[in-house]
Amino acid sequence: MLDPRIIKNDFPILQRVIDGKRLIYLDNAATTQKPMQVINAIKQYYENFNANVHRGVYELSIESTEIYENARKTVANFIGAKNWREIIFTRNTTEGINLVAYAYGLHNLKDGDKIVLTEMEHHSNIVPWQIISSVKKAKILHLPVTNDGYLMTDILDKYLKDAKIFALTHASNVLGTINPVKELIKVAKEYGATTIIDGAQSVPHFPVNVSDIGADFYAFSGHKMLGPLGVGVLYANRKMLEEMNPFLGGGEMIKEVSLERSVWNEVPWKFEAGTPSVADAIGLAEAVKYLNKIGMDNVRKHELELTSYAYQSLVKLPKIRLLGPINKNDRTGLISFTLADIHPHDLAEFLDKKYGIAIRAGHHCAMPIHTKFGLIASARISFYIYNTIEEIDVLVNGLRDALRVFKTI
Ligand code: PMP
Repeated sequence: MLDPRIIKNDFPILQRVIDGKRLIYLDNAATTQKPMQVINAIKQYYENFNANVHRGVYELSIESTEIYENARKTVANFIGAKNWREIIFTRNTTEGINLVAYAYGLHNLKDGDKIVLTEMEHHSNIVPWQIISSVKKAKILHLPVTNDGYLMTDILDKYLKDAKIFALTHASNVLGTINPVKELIKVAKEYGATTIIDGAQSVPHFPVNVSDIGADFYAFSGHKMLGPLGVGVLYANRKMLEEMNPFLGGGEMIKEVSLERSVWNEVPWKFEAGTPSVADAIGLAEAVKYLNKIGMDNVRKHELELTSYAYQSLVKLPKIRLLGPINKNDRTGLISFTLADIHPHDLAEFLDKKYGIAIRAGHHCAMPIHTKFGLIASARISFYIYNTIEEIDVLVNGLRDALRVFKTI
């Protein structure tokens, strides 16, 4: 089992005291904190290896290239990809989905084609498709969500019939719902749809095997799993990558360029135009090693324990509305809620100032699902490996205090 008190020692930022209070960081769905191991790996790269990759014939560049490509292999193993060539380094989940929308969608969709999304998507899996569909005159449908936060899978066939693209999140960043993506992908494949999974809230929190899930594309962000900001991953079916056009053009992604035409580089470099964020990819590989040491099963167990403890404590508060499934096994480690008529921003500010607790407030880049539940905003707590039961007690105490201070009881 994982001991968050020991883990905390690896995270310099978690030792911070703000206004006399030790930071309680509960906004891990937005981004996680970074352990010394990751920070040091980046520092060591710049101190010892910094050089542009794939270009130089001198020792430093060769070493830099080797470490960068090893980082790719580490990531491939972590998510069960069969081949390192299936891993493209991006900036984040958003860029991964845009890559698919532009490099695949723009070239393969036709007038009237059907794109299926769901009502619980993050803006990064909504807006790229809106942009592409406005160019290609494709139509977008959204698989609805039930009041208790599940996808309406009983009407899946109706939605997927004739669909060209099915893009959905593995885990919702608002409801916490973990979707049965393997089963959904199987149905989508039977209808011949190309499938894309937004893994921003899944890969960091429980074991994910992309080969087993079987989606054509699977995108996630390094910064939500202890890695640095600025690096993400797009896993993709190699055959599809070979057939696809590039997303961005420039250096690195070509084999040959004349003034008239260019010949694309091999996969995955065909999709990595320009100088990549080498140090960040190395930082991400170090984060993966850190998570591997703990074990993703243990990460999941710890988050389940925290989430069910928090849920049981929160549900006892007066005038609280908890979003998403009640069954803890169907949820990832986050809970969104509203408390009486206190605006989530006021609540977040109150908890920060009085208790040193960082929580998220707003629409969490998922306005449509908030609208669906009649809300403009919600408050959200989200856990990771360094959070403790005691921190949840401080939070719940803070929320009771807020109910009194804001004179709602
Ligand atoms: N999808 C989901 C479900 C998310 O939670 C997030 C991050 N809030 C994203 C996509 C976008 O991630 P990024 O900003 O790292 O691209």
